[in-house]
Amino acid sequence: MPKKLVYYFGGKKADGDAAMKPLLGGKGANLAEMVNLKLPVPPGFTITTEVCTHYYKNNRKYPKELRDQVKAALSRMEREIGKKFGDKNDPLLVSVRSGARASMPGMMDTILNLGLNDETVHGLIEMTGNERFAYDSYRRFVQMYGDVVMEMRPHSKNERDPFELIIENKKRDRGVKMDTDLTAEDLKELVQEFKLEIKIRLGREFPEDPMEQINGAVDAVFNSWMNERAIVYRKLNNIPESWGTAVNVQSMVFGNMGESSGTGVAFTRDPASGENVFYGEYLMNAQGEDVVAGIRTPLTIATLNQQNPDMYSQLEKVRKALERHYKDMMDIEFTIQDGKLYILQCRVGKRTGSAAVKIAVDMVNEKLISERDAIMRIEPDQLNQLLRPIFDNVEKETAIKQGRLIAKGLNAGPGAATGRIYFNAGDAEDAAVRKEKVILVRIETSPEDIKGMNASEGILTARGGMTSHAALVARQMGKVCVAGCGDLEIDYETRELKVVRDDKCFVLKEGDWLSIDGTTGEVIEGKIHTKESEILQVLLEKSLKPEYSETFQIYDKVMSWADKYRTMKVRTNADQPDQCRNALAFGAQGIGLCRTEHMFFGGDRINAVREMILADTLAEREAALEKLFPYQKEDFLGIFREMKDLPVTIRTLDPPLHEFLPHKESEQKELATMLNKSFDDIKAKVESLHEFNPMMGHRGCRLGIVYPEITAMQARAIFSAAAEARKAGIDVKPEVMIPLVGTSSELEHQTKVVRKIAEEIMAAEDVKFEYHVGTMIEVPRAALTADEVAAAAEFFSFGTNDLTQLTMGLSRDDSGTFLPYYIEKEIIPGDPFISIDPAVASLVKMAVDKGRSVKPKLKVGICGEHGGDPRTIHFCHTANLDYVSCSPFRLPIARLSAAQAHLMYDEGRGTSNTPVKKKAKKAAVKKPAAKRTTAGKSAVKKAAVRKAAVKKAAVRKSVVKKSATRKRGR
Ligand code: PEP
Ligand code: MG
Repeated sequence: MPKKLVYYFGGKKADGDAAMKPLLGGKGANLAEMVNLKLPVPPGFTITTEVCTHYYKNNRKYPKELRDQVKAALSRMEREIGKKFGDKNDPLLVSVRSGARASMPGMMDTILNLGLNDETVHGLIEMTGNERFAYDSYRRFVQMYGDVVMEMRPHSKNERDPFELIIENKKRDRGVKMDTDLTAEDLKELVQEFKLEIKIRLGREFPEDPMEQINGAVDAVFNSWMNERAIVYRKLNNIPESWGTAVNVQSMVFGNMGESSGTGVAFTRDPASGENVFYGEYLMNAQGEDVVAGIRTPLTIATLNQQNPDMYSQLEKVRKALERHYKDMMDIEFTIQDGKLYILQCRVGKRTGSAAVKIAVDMVNEKLISERDAIMRIEPDQLNQLLRPIFDNVEKETAIKQGRLIAKGLNAGPGAATGRIYFNAGDAEDAAVRKEKVILVRIETSPEDIKGMNASEGILTARGGMTSHAALVARQMGKVCVAGCGDLEIDYETRELKVVRDDKCFVLKEGDWLSIDGTTGEVIEGKIHTKESEILQVLLEKSLKPEYSETFQIYDKVMSWADKYRTMKVRTNADQPDQCRNALAFGAQGIGLCRTEHMFFGGDRINAVREMILADTLAEREAALEKLFPYQKEDFLGIFREMKDLPVTIRTLDPPLHEFLPHKESEQKELATMLNKSFDDIKAKVESLHEFNPMMGHRGCRLGIVYPEITAMQARAIFSAAAEARKAGIDVKPEVMIPLVGTSSELEHQTKVVRKIAEEIMAAEDVKFEYHVGTMIEVPRAALTADEVAAAAEFFSFGTNDLTQLTMGLSRDDSGTFLPYYIEKEIIPGDPFISIDPAVASLVKMAVDKGRSVKPKLKVGICGEHGGDPRTIHFCHTANLDYVSCSPFRLPIARLSAAQAHLMYDEGRGTSNTPVKKKAKKAAVKKPAAKRTTAGKSAVKKAAVRKAAVKKAAVRKSVVKKSATRKRGR
């Protein structure tokens, strides 16, 4: 039997269901599911994603069975609806839309009203008794088909859309302003003029044959999988190219058949705030693209309740049915044709970070989902949005009092953003490269703008509603957005923004400062400082009481669930007492990495450090170290006081020494005077310390081995501070960590130095405290010989920054010049300095197993930047790490990711919104922890395809740039 390539939906039961997303795409799978739920869905069929992959693997050729299966599905539609495709009396008209596994709003192509031609248009007139409507539909179809399938569209920024030019001429001839002022006769003429223009420009006829039309449309949709904006979007969202798109052919229903027809989009809850209110917008006498494209500003769904309460209550029923079934916030598209409601699409609604946590918490309270489901629902990176800045209230109020509030739009993407105005996405990108903060101001945005949107702090549009392109994409990217701000007059040519408010005219030019509040929709002239989110105000500044902040309470609830379900601990990378305080507030259970060298730059310590480096004799060096000792001791004491009985891992000196030396002649002269040495001596010494490849030079434990007195001084500072803290009643737990170890002998050497000092201090101070000496695993040799290294180590901590660099032979300092190219060209799937590379992950896994083969209880953690990356955290869980360590602000993300990893790998839970079937629930049985060890590699692969927040892409970009400097102390 030939393979099934086409799945029908309609009648009583669809061929597919919601679980078939990989095959049918999100739209196709959910259309099938809604048919099965008996919701009013116009019938149609889905051509599978496998056809798309076949198409691209076979030089854009289809499987031979496809045409027959499409014809059979069309016949089934014809029978169900009682109309015939191409029938000149009563034609069946269809839409042809893309539908990938993950939603890619507006990135691929759609064709509506397909099946119209010079004959069938008469059938449509007959059927509807509305000639104007029929010619308007025909006009739209020829325009869309001409643009999307025949590719008659502007090919440069300065070119005008050829169809729009013809419409404008027609309006000028007729002396009218609006499209709606054109008569049926005008529209009929437009159709012929469009066709003539196609013939002239392309030398081809517009196809009249509906079968030829449908074949062309299917080709166009499959081809749009590879258009530039779809490729960019996939990259930003980690959507693999191999997934392909499905194509959905569905019978048309019309929202533009008169005043009893309409179309809209709605969310079952507010996607910006998460509030449990029906949220959406609609337009009467309009087609779907009018709402989404933002050309007319739509009415809110609450208005529908006043205008047509019966229709509203039907929609409300659909809302309830969908939430009950999918147990999630859903996004729906609907059309009312002549008073009858149809649902054209449903999918899990995109939401802001704040909405994601609120909806998850509310749904647990409503007993719709469990705590475990709630944890799986939130993208860890989205938590970043909750920590985003808000405007300084006083400054904002002052600005408003000064009359600087120039307009108000829709609060489409929460948060506060301030920056310089740019009117073009490309200019916004360029400004961001110059490190300017940008507010992208557009009449409306389109998919071409996504790179510029990504580079901006905030987006402001004059047109469009909460579901316009700008609003949807900004929310997904986690950008601040004010949309549909109708008072703005934007002139792209003069690069000016004009607003008249209270008889005052504001004119803002490119480069001027503007502030937008995506939580309230306010647009304010000038710059306003931003301040911490409420969560930070409660946790760090302590300027807000928890009981006054709902946002904090919800965050706290999610964190408490995350802590309940995670098995891995979270630590932080911190080297100052204030960083420790922040980290504790974000839930740190210890310090995973204190980079001692960061302390060397405070006050005038750098002078002592330089003196130590430039010393010619042991005596000189020891004298300099003696000066450093009290500083270091004080630093460690400050940290112990903050961290109390939690473990604190302190790394001995790591960077190459030349990093601490002055390289300018003037500074070297100053230093010479201060150290009472000659300038030539200093210059020569600095030159002698120059290395061609310092990252593989005299650094890490190699310093402590050649100069054991440095390690000894640091150990003395750590343990003297520990002794003092212990005497003050703190149950300190210092862990001394030796960096860049490659052989067990290196570790043994350094361990001996450290232990000797510890014992001496405990004896001298007559005090006992628990301490451990361990190593970083950041040199591949150490990973390969981890059993030998473990014999000398009490713990391992993976320094995955260096381990990545040394495993891949990829310089942390220099890869910024070519890595972005590699990523763009998909030579590698992503930045290996952000998310762990599978080969590095294999080394980690092997080192854990080897280490524990000799020391079963060996404590193991990770302290490279990867420790705050959700995908890597999943891997760490499967590799049986005891903890991950990351920067303080990523701790909430790490806590949630660790909980998700436990639920995913130990309990077999997925993140999909597919309605939970009874069998799937049974899988929620805890597997023994030992089983986790086998999941290592697949965790990296599995996690690699999980959709990450768009934000990540922005972070990736900046980190790629940052990798030009050594990645220390983030
Ligand atoms: C590492 O290499 O992963 C690490 C944590 O050390 P650093 O970044 O300081 O080299
Ligand atoms: Mg390192």
